[in-house]
Amino acid sequence: MQSLLIKNVDLFGRRLDVRCRMGDVSTIAEHLGSVADERVLDARGGALIPSLRDDHVHLLALAARKCSVNCGPPEITDSSQLKNKLRLEEGTGWIRGTGYHESIAGDLTASLVDQWVEGRPVRIQHRSGRVWYFNSLGAKEMGLPPDSQGQLYRKDEAVFTRLTVEHSLTEELHEVSREMTSCGVTHVTDATPSNGDETLAFLQNHCPEIRVRAMGGPELSDGHRKMILDDYRLPDFQEFCDLIAESHRVQRPVAIHCVSKVEVVFAVSALNEVGSVVDDRLEHATELSSDVMQMVEALRLHVVPNPNFLYARGDQYIRDNEPEVLDSLFPIRSMLARGISCTIGTDAPFGDADPWCAIKAATDRRTRGGAVIGSHEAIEPEDALALFTDGEEIKVGSRANLVCLDKPWSEARSRLTSSDVLATILEGHLTYLRE
Ligand SMILES: [Zn+2]
Repeated sequence: MQSLLIKNVDLFGRRLDVRCRMGDVSTIAEHLGSVADERVLDARGGALIPSLRDDHVHLLALAARKCSVNCGPPEITDSSQLKNKLRLEEGTGWIRGTGYHESIAGDLTASLVDQWVEGRPVRIQHRSGRVWYFNSLGAKEMGLPPDSQGQLYRKDEAVFTRLTVEHSLTEELHEVSREMTSCGVTHVTDATPSNGDETLAFLQNHCPEIRVRAMGGPELSDGHRKMILDDYRLPDFQEFCDLIAESHRVQRPVAIHCVSKVEVVFAVSALNEVGSVVDDRLEHATELSSDVMQMVEALRLHVVPNPNFLYARGDQYIRDNEPEVLDSLFPIRSMLARGISCTIGTDAPFGDADPWCAIKAATDRRTRGGAVIGSHEAIEPEDALALFTDGEEIKVGSRANLVCLDKPWSEARSRLTSSDVLATILEGHLTYLRE
């Protein structure tokens, strides 16, 4: 196996050379001469940091988005813009839209979407992923019952199966993994509830440059059991507790999707009732007040927030919520102060897949419009980075999962942008090198 020598990195505030061999960091020293057959990368003083791990993404949905029409903000803000966009779509067959938000034209029905496009089947996904809207032709092709009004809730799997029949998505998956490596990502957790062993193997095969692990449903033999809460149709509390207990019985921790305060309280109360096990997780936990945080701490739950939504959706959050709610959104600083275990996920494609957007948002809590939400919950760039690198350290003997920036950390820490990524290294192999 070819070794890799990274010259002139900024590490621990010093100028050092780092050699990677057999997938590990093998030597760190001031001046290392290259050996025969060794690949050499000159970082010219750029920072060397641990590679990034996106702990909550949806790879297939990301790939599918590559052949989808964006139907939501900031590009689309009203129904006439959406109508025009859909009508301009060239080609035949399905039009697949994503990113829709009800601020555009409310809850969509088949008859409304028919007024925009009638001659082709259309499906539009709400940006939360909780519902798909169809026009009449699309609803008919999907075999939806007539009383559905063209709305399909949380049945991504059915839609996905349909989509894969049309299109295998393998090329798009490659593109997705290449884009991730160009941002410094080497590891992801796919959080799609329907994941099974087959889907995981498919993802791992078609994203060779990133390491993929998954949470999922009963068809997944290892990893977290993903459970979804929607506050407008919460499950029976006892049944939900039984599901958690059943998962724990087969040695699988749970990962509960919860966003609103009601959902978070429901999730935490259920775990409190059943008892938690190591690695039980809360996905998003967007609205987390301090009284609930206390329970999260007591139960030793792991939390996976998505601060990138503060940037992307923050202006909408401000319009829709009371100040005390805004104060409880993604309280990352408070969680860290309590010693709650945290990692960050982008929730791409529902959130921006660029991890640096999330890192930056964790430090400045700034919305796209420039407002700041919960400034007291902002954290330092080093702490934000640590939440994305799962606390990994660069030392001799550690796995060589690294990112080389083109600037020293003292400069990069005030920029926090993926455009500073020079190279990405997975287990000693370059998976990305900027031209
Ligand atoms: Zn998600």
